[in-house]
Amino acid sequence: MSNNYRLYSPKVMRDILHKYGFRFSKGLGQNFLIDGNILDKICDGIELSKNDEVIEIGPGIGTLTQALAERAKKIMAIEIDKKLIPILEDTLSNYDNIEVINGDVLKLDLNELIEDKFENKKIKLAANLPYYITTPIIMKLLEDNINLESIIVMVQKEVAERIQALPGTKDYGALSIAVQYYSNPEIVTIVPKNVFMPKPNVDSAVIRLNVYDEPKVKVKDEKLFFKVVKGAFALRRKTLLNSLGSFGIGVGKEEIREILKILNIKENIRGEKLSIEEIAKISDMIYELNKK
Ligand code: SAM
Repeated sequence: MSNNYRLYSPKVMRDILHKYGFRFSKGLGQNFLIDGNILDKICDGIELSKNDEVIEIGPGIGTLTQALAERAKKIMAIEIDKKLIPILEDTLSNYDNIEVINGDVLKLDLNELIEDKFENKKIKLAANLPYYITTPIIMKLLEDNINLESIIVMVQKEVAERIQALPGTKDYGALSIAVQYYSNPEIVTIVPKNVFMPKPNVDSAVIRLNVYDEPKVKVKDEKLFFKVVKGAFALRRKTLLNSLGSFGIGVGKEEIREILKILNIKENIRGEKLSIEEIAKISDMIYELNKK
């Protein structure tokens, strides 16, 4: 590639796609960014500096990768689509701080990769995520205890709203709690459909997850905590008493009633009103009861 090209330029992108006879795969969530302002917002959003090492998931033809490489020390980009690998070799050939790996992010051992490829400091992660697997990717990044300082991702707008939602709002649910257990989420900007090629059917949002060193609440049994979360939201219009009491977590309705009484929580409360701290307390009390 010649110097000074911008991969987000629709003309440059069309020429590259044409040169390689590339066809977008809807199944792989391929919608490439064609707006330099959004790229800046993503880079500014994780406060990139020349010392930062960054993982990118799904580089596409390298639009975001190029922007990241110009501001950070090193980028490792993981792309599942084999057809994009020779294209990326071409589009990013002017950068010596980018390594592209062909693989499925959900199957890779990211901790191992980080140990191999980075100097093992705290890593930042940036991605315009494929929408069909947004939630599993985010949960893998958070649950695998990867040494990530912050995560900035483009996701469907509704998903970003659910991630950031607070108790008592319509978007609050198991996903809000799961992500907020590990991080403090913050929507950076809403992104309209027309900054992608091809244009998706939905609006998007860039969301930053500031990952905690320790989870937000300390629980006695993490597995049980997440089971309680699942149970609390499994039957959305039912009270917590009814949904948890029949959810198979080892305690029945009467015991849940007793727990709510001790915690001074109304008996007819619904799961969507409970804070993460309250769910942690309920889960710890269930844990103690199960031990007896
Ligand atoms: N970063 C590019 C951009 O902003 O223009 C492309 C973003 S596009 C929404 C998502 C990218 O993720 C595609 O390149 C797609 O092939 C890739 N992808 C899809 N599933 C993946 C997976 N499981 N692991 C790694 N990459 C994946």
